[in-house]
Amino acid sequence: MRPKDVRMQLHTKILLGLVLGTLFGFLANVLGITWLQQTLVALEPIGTAFIRLITMIVIPLVVASLMVGTASLGDLAKLGRIGGKTVGFYMCTTAVAVTIGLLVSNLFRPGSRIDDTTRDSLSAQFSGDAADRMTLAEEAPSVMDTLLNIIPRNPVQAAAEMDLLSLIFFTIVFAAAISVIAPRRREAVITFFEGVNDASMVVIDWVMKLAPYAVFALIASVVAQFGLDLLRSLLAYSGVVVLGLAIHLAFTYGLAVRFLAKLNFLEFLKRIAKAPLVAFSTSSSNATLPVTMETAEEEVGVSKPVSSFVLPLGATINMDGTALYQAVAVMFIAQIYGIDLSVAQQLIIVLTATLASIGAAGVPSAGIITLIIVLNAVGLGDQVQAGIALILGVDRILDMIRTSVNVTGDITAASVIARSEGEELGFKPRTKEPAVPVG
Ligand code: ASP
Repeated sequence: MRPKDVRMQLHTKILLGLVLGTLFGFLANVLGITWLQQTLVALEPIGTAFIRLITMIVIPLVVASLMVGTASLGDLAKLGRIGGKTVGFYMCTTAVAVTIGLLVSNLFRPGSRIDDTTRDSLSAQFSGDAADRMTLAEEAPSVMDTLLNIIPRNPVQAAAEMDLLSLIFFTIVFAAAISVIAPRRREAVITFFEGVNDASMVVIDWVMKLAPYAVFALIASVVAQFGLDLLRSLLAYSGVVVLGLAIHLAFTYGLAVRFLAKLNFLEFLKRIAKAPLVAFSTSSSNATLPVTMETAEEEVGVSKPVSSFVLPLGATINMDGTALYQAVAVMFIAQIYGIDLSVAQQLIIVLTATLASIGAAGVPSAGIITLIIVLNAVGLGDQVQAGIALILGVDRILDMIRTSVNVTGDITAASVIARSEGEELGFKPRTKEPAVPVG
């Protein structure tokens, strides 16, 4: 038996870890207490161990839950319908996010507030790292190859390389096949994967007990190392990104949750908080996926067929936070170099940032690599290296924030799709038994 309000305590503990970690890191950095700084940086492996532990369960969870979810959908037409709605909703919200990013950057013009000396010193400081990112971007495959790569040559290899999109593709095809084979055989396969799924959920529950300590270690080591100095010089830019993300959260998700999922938005945020908090600490939608799925199912009541389909897909292709950030970053870099982007160019940003965020993997810093594609598309090819170097310093912290938004967007979509399929959503009482019975 689980103690009564263990779930609420976990939220609170994670938040506490976050606040204390920031505070300690900040003190060590600002007061220049070297031994504290070193100790906090040395704690990072605790955070890394946590990230590896939850990432470890991603493959068994995605395969098992998608297999059970899709095979139990009953008919293939339903699969097609949910698939269409999911991709449509993801594309629309991402395009809205980019538009919000463009609006706030046009309004506040963060690039006009940086003087030339700051610009040049930041560019010089990070130019080496920026060159590395550019090499990574150059290695990125073409659009046609990206589409072809969704079909795995070998599903085991796709799993081994954490290539989620290919793995999802294979699993859906396989599960669709399972749903049409003889019932006796079908039951056997589904029962097997149900067991794998339940066991994965138990592992997640275990690992999450570590979350508050891991969050403390991750945040404290980042803040102790980088401090807030960089943030100050790029305050206007970071502020505009955060403002855009807040608007997207409050309006786009607020309206979708209220009117499409028909849930109270504030209560929704409170219930799902664990997932964005873990996303904030890990900067990875993929690593957060097990927590995202558990939260959507247990806290909001999304059914397994919907959550197992919508959420893994979302972790890979739905990145509203990333797309919005890319829009602001492109505008910021253009403004710094005194380049005015026309309305047509800004429309290109809407298109390419939406596509680039689909192409970005749900791992830390993926967004800054695909940003290079957007910069090239609007004709800022010459400014790429210096531009990336400019914003690289604050990228880690912005990555944490945009990843939280990405994950919140995924749970919002799962709730909206579930409701559109006629599911009864609702916040479960906190005193309920664990969803996965143990023993
Ligand atoms: N870290 C982000 C995610 O995992 C991607 C990015 O914006 O870099 O969702």
